Amino acid sequence: MKKLGLFSMFLILTIIISACGSNDEKNAGEKEKSQKVYKVGVDTTYPPFEFKEGNDYKGIDIELINAIAKDQDFKIKFSPMDFGGIIPAMQANQLDVAIAGMSITEERKKVVDFSTPYFDAGLTVVVKKDNTSTKSVDDLKGKTIAVKKGTTGAKYAQDNSKKLGIKVVQFNDSPAMFQEVANGNAEALIEDYPVISYAIAQKDLGLKIVGDRLNGDQYGIAVLKGQNQDLLKKINDGLANLKKDGTYDEILKTYLGE
Ligand code: GLN
Repeated sequence: MKKLGLFSMFLILTIIISACGSNDEKNAGEKEKSQKVYKVGVDTTYPPFEFKEGNDYKGIDIELINAIAKDQDFKIKFSPMDFGGIIPAMQANQLDVAIAGMSITEERKKVVDFSTPYFDAGLTVVVKKDNTSTKSVDDLKGKTIAVKKGTTGAKYAQDNSKKLGIKVVQFNDSPAMFQEVANGNAEALIEDYPVISYAIAQKDLGLKIVGDRLNGDQYGIAVLKGQNQDLLKKINDGLANLKKDGTYDEILKTYLGE
């Protein structure tokens, strides 16, 4: 009787232990399967928001989305591309998320859902350093203006080309656009204020900012419209947590200083 008692206890324990083990494995397996890896579109020629250093992605946007993903327990993979390709890639279901110094606009809101704003930017006019005749956008009549495809800067130039009497040339990335003005091939360019001021502070591009900011663009993180409400909620919750716990300020400080 005593022997049988011990034996059955052993048996029961073995069953409990093995049941626990297999449950754990099953849960891990299910979690693995349900852990979708979200593809995040980034514009990697856009410091201080995103750039590549060796094989690493760096910048405010990169660190923010990494921290949000960690806080909200989801996985991401970066897809670098020209800014102008990001929204089309989202619409073609090749991307789930975009964080690319992307300004929140009414036009874009028709095709993507934006997170709460995470950065105040705004457009500005940039000319060659030795240009003394251009003090604002109103001095550009008859001149050629360089812009980057698909950006709010490009839209501003196109929408105002008649009124300002300007000719607009488009480039795929910001460095190519900067070069065009530094070379004297275009009179001015339009870029986001924090991006061009960071670029000028980093190295002498032979460029300077003129006039006031042209608008009050704010950056948002985009997900495909109407299809990713859970993910959008996680992004907004994560962003709020990073703002609360000081991570957001830390990230900004790393790239922009005090
Ligand atoms: N903020 C601008 C826009 O959303 C430019 C973004 C960029 O060039 N990466 O259009």
